[in-house]
Amino acid sequence: MKEAISAVPVAPPYRGPSNPQVAADLDIPFSRPFLTGNEQKYVAEAIGTGAIGSDGRYTRACASLLKQRFRIQDVFMVPSCTAALEMAAMLCGLAEGDEVILPSFTFTSTANAVILAGARPVFVDIRPDTLNMDESLIEACITRRTKAIVPVHYGGVSCDMDRIMAIANKHNLFVIEDAAQAVNATYGGRALGSIGHLGAYSFHSTKDYTCGEGGALCVNSPELSQRAEIIRDKGTNRGRYLRGEVDKYTWVDTGSSYVPSELNCAYLYAQLEKMDTIKLQRRRVFDSYQKNLRSYEKAELLRLPRVPDGCETNCHTFYTLLSSASLRDEALDHLRSKGIKASSHYVPLHCSVMGTRYGYRQGNFPVTEDLSARLLRLPLYPDLTDNQVMEISAILGEFVTTFQEPASGAVRAGHLRTATAPW
Ligand SMILES: *Cc1c(COP(=O)(O)O)cnc(C)c1O
Repeated sequence: MKEAISAVPVAPPYRGPSNPQVAADLDIPFSRPFLTGNEQKYVAEAIGTGAIGSDGRYTRACASLLKQRFRIQDVFMVPSCTAALEMAAMLCGLAEGDEVILPSFTFTSTANAVILAGARPVFVDIRPDTLNMDESLIEACITRRTKAIVPVHYGGVSCDMDRIMAIANKHNLFVIEDAAQAVNATYGGRALGSIGHLGAYSFHSTKDYTCGEGGALCVNSPELSQRAEIIRDKGTNRGRYLRGEVDKYTWVDTGSSYVPSELNCAYLYAQLEKMDTIKLQRRRVFDSYQKNLRSYEKAELLRLPRVPDGCETNCHTFYTLLSSASLRDEALDHLRSKGIKASSHYVPLHCSVMGTRYGYRQGNFPVTEDLSARLLRLPLYPDLTDNQVMEISAILGEFVTTFQEPASGAVRAGHLRTATAPW
């Protein structure tokens, strides 16, 4: 037994993200978690206290940091954004036959939460400038069965929340912000996740602030907080018991276990404390891509991300839109052959196996289909150097300049001129 254990290979100590060897080889991952330096200390501290269960010191510290920083009424730390979305769906009281409006251009969790609650996802197309749900199409989707709208803030750039909240208020609908990618981004000075009735954050390892797997549910509607606490804790009123409000706790509602480990929250707290440092580094990389690729945009060889007035992005994603799907696919392969892990993004949900099961098919949402096929995301993480960004940009720029479109897939005229929608 002892031998078996010592035979387990010991990984070399993680030297953190700044590994010069990696940079020299141009082996550039798509994303790389950033270490602030306090993660080990806080996790060790949590282990030392023995209090590694639910809602320990760090779990509470994370929730209160998010709550205060972003002016959210109540924040509940959860194991993932997926869990937060599921809780949000339950809190809206979704039932069989209800409908929820969301973009097709999103991650599966946004739609799964709706389906798991027994409701039906109703997809809408996206805006060509931000790739966020097109708010002008929402009202046409509203029926007597509509219960909620789920705006997804793609890449950390806000949806048109004023318009979406106005529509929701007019029709008495809930708004659940899928702010998985939008922690520490704002709209009109307000933090994303603090605007809808409910909001969901992700701390997955590919997101800006991470603990490997983690999330938070933001509650901005007073009447939902108490039930959120109960649903998160297996349908019990244990929270009230712990506060001394009742003398024993019991089963009072449906619920599940949506409580994260204190160890994860200890790690996460180190990241949240340094939120602005991380954001500044991401902004440096984002701005550097903009600067290096601007001339290619001017030449209409590609299109860069748009951040509407009044929105501040957390620089979660840097994407470019190329002039055709074939160019995008070839550019992806080319960058990868150079050691640069660029990436496409969502296969539109309405074109997926599950999407067809809900009656959708290719052709339903032309903007989503067009843009998702031409979208290329570039590596973005705090340790990416300006030189690396310059090099990646030059490799992509040269490729799009010299690319010969196969005869059959001619570039559609005006392809890159669609993105002029006024905010
Ligand atoms: C990452 C992501 C999720 C899921 O987050 P997890 O924390 O991995 O559950 C949901 N929605 C969007 C838009 C995401 O980007």
